[in-house]
Amino acid sequence: MLDTRLTEEQEQLRKTVEAFARDVVAPVAAHHDETKTFPYEVVRQMGEMGLFGLPFPEEHGGMGGDYFALCLALEELARVDQSVAITLEAAVSLGAMPVYRFGTEAQKAEWLPQLTSGQALGAFGLTEPGAGSDAGGTRTTARLEDGHWVINGSKAFITNSGTDITRLVTVTAVTGETASGKKEISSILVPVPTQGFTVEPAYSKVGWHASDTHPLSFDDVRVPEENLLGERGRGYANFLSILDEGRIAIAALAVGAAQGCVDESVKYAKEREAFGQAIGKNQAIAFKIARMEARAHTARMAYYDAAAKMLAGQPFKKEAAIAKLVAGEAAMDNARDATQVHGGYGFMNEYPVARQYRDSKILEIGEGTTEVQLMLIARELGL
Ligand SMILES: Cc1cc2nc3c(=O)[nH]c(=O)nc-3n(C[C@H](O)[C@H](O)[C@H](O)COP(=O)(O)OP(=O)(O)OC[C@H]3O[C@@H](n4cnc5c(N)ncnc54)[C@H](O)[C@@H]3O)c2cc1C
Repeated sequence: MLDTRLTEEQEQLRKTVEAFARDVVAPVAAHHDETKTFPYEVVRQMGEMGLFGLPFPEEHGGMGGDYFALCLALEELARVDQSVAITLEAAVSLGAMPVYRFGTEAQKAEWLPQLTSGQALGAFGLTEPGAGSDAGGTRTTARLEDGHWVINGSKAFITNSGTDITRLVTVTAVTGETASGKKEISSILVPVPTQGFTVEPAYSKVGWHASDTHPLSFDDVRVPEENLLGERGRGYANFLSILDEGRIAIAALAVGAAQGCVDESVKYAKEREAFGQAIGKNQAIAFKIARMEARAHTARMAYYDAAAKMLAGQPFKKEAAIAKLVAGEAAMDNARDATQVHGGYGFMNEYPVARQYRDSKILEIGEGTTEVQLMLIARELGL
């Protein structure tokens, strides 16, 4: 029987993160956004709560939960602050997960305890200045020399790559040519710091101001041959499978953003008066908020469904792409409508909806654009 209700344990986790988001994250969100500073203290506390270890087994320092638990936490965090939520999402589903899925026992023993405790952050270096949606267009190279990979090239827009606690960047690089003459792409672990590896100055972004994003450059960066992650030549395919899962996590984050816009709009529509009554008494406003709630709800069901299929070991590529597509659009549409409900105040940075408005656009771009999701869905339909 289909059951979308949370179990007692899941509801307990959701409530715990909801309270943390309200009491700890929300009060400092505007400050970190305005000053464009990374929320180290919030991240430290999230580490203590075990959020970075949610989907990993206890033997690796994790909490023994699953990917859906991570999604629930991301949704609650993004209701009040997308920057904090993306910091967790990128650290877990992009930073630690590739090591867990494809690492050797030695690599897992070295990296997972620090990553799952939140003491260290790992970053995922796939995108390049000339290769985003077409990530197979990687130009970064790695050649084997005296038992070392020598890496040259650059990466663009890499989340969590330049914080004081970043210790690892996993990169894709061309390591040769396949028998059919195509690029052989592998993934390699680069500890931070390593000589020749440079974290370039942070981007000036439209939103996600408290999230850490940098271009990276590699100039004859040498790491031991054993730092190959997964099979040689499987790097691109492995990274794409990480992104399939990641889409469910980003969808959960986007649902949180969409719901946060509903929360703020309901509150404001009851308080703000115009023409002698609360603005929410106008059906034009009430219907707008009702539609926002419907978008958040349907997008939530989409990511619950994708996560359920993934955890049951069933194919979930199409469902994950659908969830990412509808949740990203729900966040953007709700942010635009929530700003409208707030009138001129919605355009003022001190109002949370203004931050949601700036933050939400990237949800239609990062971890696969809307067009890429449509491509994936169409492909699954045989088109
Ligand atoms: C804040 C931020 C954080 C990020 N974090 C990371 C990270 O941690 N790690 C990482 O590796 N990457 C990261 N990215 C990169 C992100 O995943 C890419 O920006 C995204 O995949 C799009 O790639 P692109 O920017 O090169 O755009 P392009 O691929 O150049 O796309 C430009 C436009 O063309 C469209 N387009 C492209 N090809 C087609 C097609 N065949 N059909 C129809 N339309 C098409 C796209 O949908 C888009 O609208 C991050 C980006 C940002 C902005």
